[in-house]
Amino acid sequence: MKTNNTFLFSIDLEDVRENVENKHLYKDRVIENTQIYLNWLKKHQSKCTFFTVGKVAEVHPELIQTILAEGHEIACHSYAHIPVANQSPEEFRIDLSKNIEALQKAGCTTIKGYRAPIFSIDKRCEWAYEIMKEFGITYSSSVLPAKNPLYGWPEFGQEYKQFPNGIIEFPISLDRFGPLNLPFAGGVYFRALPEFLILRSFKKYFRNNQPALSYFHPYDLDTNQEKFMHSGINNNKFFNWLMYYNRKNLIKRLDMVIALDARITTYSEFISKL
Ligand SMILES: [Zn+2]
Repeated sequence: MKTNNTFLFSIDLEDVRENVENKHLYKDRVIENTQIYLNWLKKHQSKCTFFTVGKVAEVHPELIQTILAEGHEIACHSYAHIPVANQSPEEFRIDLSKNIEALQKAGCTTIKGYRAPIFSIDKRCEWAYEIMKEFGITYSSSVLPAKNPLYGWPEFGQEYKQFPNGIIEFPISLDRFGPLNLPFAGGVYFRALPEFLILRSFKKYFRNNQPALSYFHPYDLDTNQEKFMHSGINNNKFFNWLMYYNRKNLIKRLDMVIALDARITTYSEFISKL
């Protein structure tokens, strides 16, 4: 299949304050930040997939309705944003069920996709695909196909593939930077790696007729967020500094990818053409 410079640009719609100590001391900036992405997508007449945390849908149902009204796709990104590898199958089943319920309450009628928090599905929790199937999920974008101290699954390989139960897994796109295999099109990596290297990686994917998979969060472009220690980085000051790094240039960098004649599409739209 010819993928025509497909850019599977997607948003992990979550609240950066989740699991942060004293989170209520800080402002909820989800709406304001998401609106910047929505405006950008509208400018480029593009529709994408928003992998949405159930708690966010509960707090901001009107945002979910705006996203749907503008023609984008809503998919799951868990209820409480706990890595799948840290859950038992039963805990995962309850979390996914609550995620779907929250999205439905906010107005979603069709929910086909799932993305694990922090790309946390690996060989240890392959059972998760059977549980997704129970809920009618048809695709997932939950694997980091490289060695990683936390949740990597290097044996998965870098191309999307279908499991025997029908679910298609789209692992995050990687490229090699020296000794490291990095998700160049996602969040902090996209902000922090040199611009020309990012563009080179996109060109490589497009030339090889592979869709480039990305993930961005509302906070990735937030230049007005208060300073606090983020969760999930073991109080590491350098990682926390990276969390804020180069947010101001995110949209400019995305425009440079679009200038490569990249075509943004939703996951469902992409799958329908396979
Ligand atoms: Zn997330």
